[in-house]
Amino acid sequence: MVNDWLKDAKSRYDVIVIGSGLGGLTCANMLARNGYSVLLLEQHHKLGGLATWFKRKGGHIFDISLHGFPIGMVKTCRKYWSSEIAGMIVQLKGIRFDNPQFSLTTTFDKEDFTRILKERFKVQSENIDSFFNTAREMNFYDDQTMTTRELFERFFPGRDDIVRLLMEPITYANGSTLDDPAITYGIVFSNFMSKGVYTVRGGTDRFIGKMEAELVKNGVDIRTNCLAERITVKDQRVSGVIVNGKMIECKAVVSNGNLKSTVHKLVGQQHFSRGFVEESKNVRLNNSSCQVYLGIKKGERIDCVGDLLFTSTAEKFDSEKLLGKDITSRTFSIYYPETRPGSDMYAIVSSTNANYEDWANLSDEQYRSSKEGLIESTIDALEKYVPGVRAKIDYAQAATPKTFQRYTLHECGASFGTKFEGLKISMGLPKEVRGLFHTGSVGIIMSGWLGAANHGVIVSNNVDEYFRS
Ligand SMILES: Cc1cc2nc3c(=O)[nH]c(=O)nc-3n(C[C@H](O)[C@H](O)[C@H](O)COP(=O)(O)OP(=O)(O)OC[C@H]3O[C@@H](n4cnc5c(N)ncnc54)[C@H](O)[C@@H]3O)c2cc1C
Repeated sequence: MVNDWLKDAKSRYDVIVIGSGLGGLTCANMLARNGYSVLLLEQHHKLGGLATWFKRKGGHIFDISLHGFPIGMVKTCRKYWSSEIAGMIVQLKGIRFDNPQFSLTTTFDKEDFTRILKERFKVQSENIDSFFNTAREMNFYDDQTMTTRELFERFFPGRDDIVRLLMEPITYANGSTLDDPAITYGIVFSNFMSKGVYTVRGGTDRFIGKMEAELVKNGVDIRTNCLAERITVKDQRVSGVIVNGKMIECKAVVSNGNLKSTVHKLVGQQHFSRGFVEESKNVRLNNSSCQVYLGIKKGERIDCVGDLLFTSTAEKFDSEKLLGKDITSRTFSIYYPETRPGSDMYAIVSSTNANYEDWANLSDEQYRSSKEGLIESTIDALEKYVPGVRAKIDYAQAATPKTFQRYTLHECGASFGTKFEGLKISMGLPKEVRGLFHTGSVGIIMSGWLGAANHGVIVSNNVDEYFRS
């Protein structure tokens, strides 16, 4: 018998949230707390979107996007979720860089970076302070014409080693490049610098599980395996969502899906002004990713080599090269048993930014062998940091931009939403179609775990305001 994933769903809700990424989850939770009836639709069988995990035989469990986020996530979780969820967040202290220009270990916070810039890179204290202050004071209402390249040139002219130290981890964290507006760098970098890099003790599975329990407690009607096919519009106002072939009415829709798909596929261009459609077409998606998941045999152990290793064999920082299929840069996340208290398993995940086009047009055979090559070259690269690791691995798999597209429906497998210009389109939706909102990774600033969750809060407030008005 075909499972009816919408069994007993109501015919009408105040709000339908499409997508259960951290943006959609947080928005749904806030709206339910504010007393609205909320239906949360997720096309996948699990909640979490990119904040996800998978299990494999042999006791392996892999986290996909749990490499690190700023301290702000503690406050966001405490205020908009629960103290219990916030309490799962702990600091990662062993952040390592290894590339032809430098090798160092840091706690990745302002204090330690100041020390490193002073002692290792011989930068004057006033210059370092001035750089940190400028980055911290950047905000959305500032002049947005300065690029990150220009920001670095102003403070560290000709110092491509410093640019690498300051930029490479942020490029990994949200796909931003030297040519993006400096504000996108300043906000994200300062968030990390305030107190370092944090993770979830217990793993993504427990974290999302607790969020799900909280949503249920607050009355959100959660439906997985439910694909939103269309957002219906009547008289320039949303009227409902067609999901798994069934129409459900609502007064507002929050899409946590890809911004461009929301405008062009879920709603349809005919419901927007021509100028808006053109502007939205010009929004650039952010890059995608490749990952390699390596499971260490039960009973084997590896020495502590750090938590997060930013490695590169490229002579200098180069954002194009960083995306290239001929991989030079990898971020290794090492998950020790303490990640999941009670477990005795180790896992290693290697992440690399990637171009969708490099993977999308391969033949099946090319795709298969490229994935194998990716796994092999990753294990080779890892041997430098964990000698003898090859013999300890009993599970290896790779994900490509096609994998990310398949699981999240993000166009081109975009890992971090859109470039900066997407924010204006995301924020402009309710002015075009009343009751239509978007949340989740967008505009670089609002991306990553913290950015997406905070965007969920902002949009829940906008929906609340819409209802009140
Ligand atoms: C490899 C990788 C590593 C990362 N590492 C980190 C990290 O270490 N730290 C960090 O902070 N961030 C990291 N990120 C980024 C972070 O995971 C994302 O920015 C964030 O989780 C995105 O949340 P979101 O709200 O935008 O939704 P998403 O996670 O993009 O989820 C959107 C959801 O909507 C669903 N959906 C889409 N269309 C429909 C539809 N029509 N009907 C029903 N459901 C639909 C999808 O199935 C999905 O579940 C990483 C990302 C990747 C890809």
